[in-house]
Amino acid sequence: MQTLKEAVAAAWEKKIALGHFNLSDSNQFNAVLAAAAAVGQPVLVGVSEGERKFFGVRNIAAMVKAARDAGVQVYLNADHTYSLDGCKEVIDAGFDSVIFDGSHLSLEENIATTMSVVEYARAKGTGVLVEGEIGRIGTSSKLLTAPPADMDKNLTDPEEAARFVRESGVDMLAPAVGTMHGRVIGAADPKIDLERITMIRAAVGIPLVLHGGSGSTDDDLRVVGNAGCSIAHINTDIRVAYRKGIEASLAADANEIAPYRFLEGGVDGVEKTTEKYIRLFAGA
Ligand SMILES: [Zn+2]
Repeated sequence: MQTLKEAVAAAWEKKIALGHFNLSDSNQFNAVLAAAAAVGQPVLVGVSEGERKFFGVRNIAAMVKAARDAGVQVYLNADHTYSLDGCKEVIDAGFDSVIFDGSHLSLEENIATTMSVVEYARAKGTGVLVEGEIGRIGTSSKLLTAPPADMDKNLTDPEEAARFVRESGVDMLAPAVGTMHGRVIGAADPKIDLERITMIRAAVGIPLVLHGGSGSTDDDLRVVGNAGCSIAHINTDIRVAYRKGIEASLAADANEIAPYRFLEGGVDGVEKTTEKYIRLFAGA
């Protein structure tokens, strides 16, 4: 079984992006695995601080380990983690990667704390990867009525990114390239700055991770791997698919009380949505 680092290097060689899908429970986990098996691509599952509190850090780690032991190429990422202690917890729990999100800090403070996470990860000796973040991509995967006020002004500068990577020692970088977390209801699709991705990738020399993929055009998402993002995140659209699927199940039979029946619609929705994105990220 490839390590995450090897799987990401293979994606870079193929000029594709691996899909990263956020989860809050085991139903969504099973749906993502079914989608990945249907396409035949490795996949990452991610849990934010809120998602992992609900799921349980040890629970999701155990489920991923069990799947891997059964030969499934699935990797576990701790999405946006805002403290050094939070990073240590998931590193100790055996996650494959962790994102320290210091994008709200000054560049110097962001570098300093990211360095501490990298040191802790290296000392652990498990090969856990650390992702850093600079620029502004918003904070939560919600349906919004308006975009966050400072969204457009803070796209990542390639030279600043190179300095951040050199000084912090991170393995992967999340740049701000036009996407955002969440979706603005009724707004036009955000445009991904593909040229900027290519410039940043050349400047930093490490894998890039696209965040906030929900709501971008299929044409843009099909080529983010070629531009230089080796992992691409989807959260909002997975949440929408889960909720809509469950609502449809409940509407079809208002008296259904067996969770494995009324949750089934949500599982199907997540599986279909995930499969669509894995294919797009693979350039299909
Ligand atoms: Zn993100």
